[in-house]
Amino acid sequence: MKLVKLIANLGYGSRKDVSLMFREGRITDPQGEVLYADDKVTADQIRVDGEPLDPPAGLVLMMNKPLGATCSRKDQGRVVYDLLPPRYRMRDPALSTVGRLDRETSGLLLFTDDGALLHRIISPKAQVTKVYEATLAQDLRGDEGEIFGSGTLMLESETEPLAPAGLTVLGPKLAQLALTEGRYHQARRMFAAVGNHVEALTRVSVGGLTLGDLAPGDWRALSPEEVSSLF
Ligand code: URA
Repeated sequence: MKLVKLIANLGYGSRKDVSLMFREGRITDPQGEVLYADDKVTADQIRVDGEPLDPPAGLVLMMNKPLGATCSRKDQGRVVYDLLPPRYRMRDPALSTVGRLDRETSGLLLFTDDGALLHRIISPKAQVTKVYEATLAQDLRGDEGEIFGSGTLMLESETEPLAPAGLTVLGPKLAQLALTEGRYHQARRMFAAVGNHVEALTRVSVGGLTLGDLAPGDWRALSPEEVSSLF
């Protein structure tokens, strides 16, 4: 791929903008030598204003989604994309969230520009387990684990029962729910189906990946090993 297109696709500007950046000498090699648009170099050898180029296509990010942000691109309010550098919104291929978390759900949210990977992670067939920690309004009754694990629980207005889900009780009003599907408001609706109400919900892991010490609102790119740990 030509350098102008490569850099423009990473959201640094239009091809015209990037051609100008070359002419202004803003694009260099790691030693600060000015690069020309028809030079033959790999992405890791490019600096823009002295900074390494953003990761190329095939990017996977994880964010600790804060409460109050939505995963929609179009929402008028605060959206998770606003927490990334503005040029990440201009990338081609576009970066999307891998599934969605509700506005009032926090925790581990993935982004990728790799459509095949995205579908692999969210497909129920792949059995990638997403674990949510739920704080409940009422004490757990004791039969929820059996009901959620049965594979027969039918949510209102759905035509297929839910796949078996795992429940780990952490306290009278605190539990972890392990899901392999991502139906609309699934965790909240499951607890509603057993007469409870979710007061706070956070996703703590996806496959073998956890947030570690990532603070709410922070994000980072995943290594290939971390991507493999999702499956
Ligand atoms: N289940 C929910 O109810 N909400 C989420 O955001 C994710 C799972």
